[in-house]
This record gives sequence, C-alpha cells and structure tokens, in this order.
Amino acid sequence: MSSQPSKENKIRLGKSVVGAAEAQAVARVLLEDGYLGMGAEVQAFEAELAAFLGVPPERVICVNSGTAALHLAVEAVTQPGEEVLVQSLTYVASFQAISGARAMPVPCEVLPETLTLDLEDAHRRLTPRTRAVMPVHFAGNPGDLDAVYDFARSHGLRVIEDAAHAFGCRYQGRLIGSFGDVACFSFDGIKNITSGEGGAVVTADAALARRLRDARLLGVERDTQKRYAGQRSWEFEVTHQGYRYHLSNVLAAIGRVQLTRFPKEFAPRRVALARLYRRRLAELPFVGLFDTDLDQVVPHIQPLRVLEGRRDALRDFLAQEGIETGVHYRPNHLLKFYGGGQVRLPLTEQLYSELLSLPLHPELTDSEVNRICDRIAAFTADRQKEAGA
Ligand SMILES: *Cc1c(COP(=O)(O)O)cnc(C)c1O
Repeated sequence: MSSQPSKENKIRLGKSVVGAAEAQAVARVLLEDGYLGMGAEVQAFEAELAAFLGVPPERVICVNSGTAALHLAVEAVTQPGEEVLVQSLTYVASFQAISGARAMPVPCEVLPETLTLDLEDAHRRLTPRTRAVMPVHFAGNPGDLDAVYDFARSHGLRVIEDAAHAFGCRYQGRLIGSFGDVACFSFDGIKNITSGEGGAVVTADAALARRLRDARLLGVERDTQKRYAGQRSWEFEVTHQGYRYHLSNVLAAIGRVQLTRFPKEFAPRRVALARLYRRRLAELPFVGLFDTDLDQVVPHIQPLRVLEGRRDALRDFLAQEGIETGVHYRPNHLLKFYGGGQVRLPLTEQLYSELLSLPLHPELTDSEVNRICDRIAAFTADRQKEAGA
C-alpha cells in the first residue's frame, strides 16, 4: 500500500501564477495612486490588450469578470426571449450570461474530436427567434471558426465567442479577438492570464463597443472618458440598462503585469506541458486526447477522454496519488435551471461520463507531468492485465 501523499507532493489542477511583480503593481496603485476604482490603470490595461491583439484601444472593454463580458454582449445583441445557440458542454457562466440577459440558451452538441460546437446540430435547432451563436473555444481551441462565421452570416446571426479559455490563442495565424464579431475573455484566477477577477469584451463593432463602455458603469453615458481623466459625471444621461461591471485599477494592475509575462513565460510553458502530455499519453489503451494545434493554441486546460467506463476509477486512482483532476463540464442541459435533461444530447452526455482534466498551469514541472503520465500508464497497464487474465 502506498502511504497518503504528503502535501508537498500534491499536484494541483490549476493555480494562479503571480509573484513579486504583481504585488508591486498592486502596491503602486494603493500607495502612490490611491484611486482604486476604474481609472488610468484600467485605461492602460485596455490599451495594452489592444496593442497585444492589434486592434484599436476603443474596441477593448474591460469588465470585472468573463461572465460580465458575456452578459453585456448578449444583452446588447438580443431582445428578451430571443435564442442563442451554445454548446451544452461549457461552464455554466456561458448559460447564465445568456439567461441573465433574458435570452434563451439553446443547448447544442459538440464535435467529439475537439469539444467545440457541432454546427450541423446547431443548424437543426435554428428557429425564427435565433439571434446569435456562442461558440466556446474549448481548452483554447477555436475549432472551425470560419465555418461558425459562415453559418452566422447565412442565417443573419451575431457571433459571441466565449473565448474565456482562449486568451493568446490563434486561428489560422490570427489572434482570437483580433477579428470577427465579439470575443469575450476571462481573467479569473486560473485563466491564461489573470487580473484576480476580470474579463474583457473585444468587438469590431464600434457602436456596440460604445454601448458596452456605458453599460458596464450603470449605463451612465460617456462616464468612461471622465473616469480615465480622474473625474466623474454629475449631469449625466442614461438610455439603457447598465450594471456595476467595471474593472478596478487594483485588478487592472495585476492584469498588466500578467500580460507582459504571457508571451515569454506562460504561453510557451503551457504549450510545452501540453506537448509532453501528448507524447506520453498518445499510445496508451482506452485513453485519448482531443485534437488541437499547439502551434496555434495556448491550452487553458488538459482534457483527456477515458473510455470503457473507467473515468471515475482513474480519477480516484490519481486522487490517491495526490494528483488533482477535474471534469469540464457538467453539461448545462442537465442542470435543473436549464431543463434538467428534458432535452437529450446523447454525445454530450457520453462525453461527460468520459472527460477528465489533468493538471495544467505554468508552474507545473516536466517531472510532475511525467509522474502523472507514469501513474496513468500504470493504471491502464493494470486494467489491460486484468482484461487479459
Ligand atoms: C471562466 C469561464 C467563463 C467565465 O469567466 P469568469 O471570469 O470566471 O466569470 C466563461 N466561460 C468559460 C468557458 C469559462 O471557462
């Protein structure tokens, strides 16, 4: 019997990777600037994100979560009761953002190779009320995004990309968010970059960008310009529903440091770890990896497909070894609030029983990945032996 793994040997599924530089940036805002709300630091973060993406700065709208980004985007492009096609296999944030805008999420199947939206299935679910499609770039993979935009164009739909996993990822060489209709990023604690909590909408639609800038601050018109100049509006006008969704200077300061660390530190590390997983796991029986192009994608998570009904056994086995795993995600159509399984999505439900996410974060070491893969290999070898015996 192996003894309980010590705390030092525990391998975490994901974690925030922040340090002295982020702490200094926060201290600078607190001690030197002293203005903790939305101001110059947020403006700088937006400008730096825009420069990174290669878009004009007024097309990037920072908010206080990825969910807020999605909610504002959906609310701006739909009327209450209109439908948004979205894969069921996504974080509940995608669905809450849609229903929170009083639109209807219409759960769709995913493709088994990539876990991205199945457009043929989405096509069958079109109605006269369909207004938008929300592809989720699962684990950073945007899938066939041209096909999504062709589908949207031919049916007159808006596209809101849930790019929460896909910061810094590319599609055919172009960064996600640098083209297309609307892309929403998350900067929560464990995403490709973090601002503690935070998110951003990036859109090519200048009118939408103007509307969202106001909507994130209670709909107060043109308040952003005032606040970036260290002022406030007193004689203001409001013409739309708005929210308290703006980002704080304190959090933007963290995000700015993370953005500088992303290209040389976080992105290559995530890609190298994912390549190592692929090399080590490719030949094993009854486990499979999903298609992704690691020349384009900076993976946010490392999903594995475990066949033959062995997912839970492998999950328990790895837990015993001090290796934390996850299941991304419980399909939304099974949640009570979204119908509790009234709609059946057979492939999504099958995948849900097979999915297992392995640890992935920039502080994970090669030897930790090797240890994880050794344990998975031992598990599969044991089961093979049993089957042969
Ligand atoms: C993290 C995440 C979100 C929401 O982002 P928050 O910043 O946590 O609100 C939305 N969609 C997906 C797929 C996510 O993983």
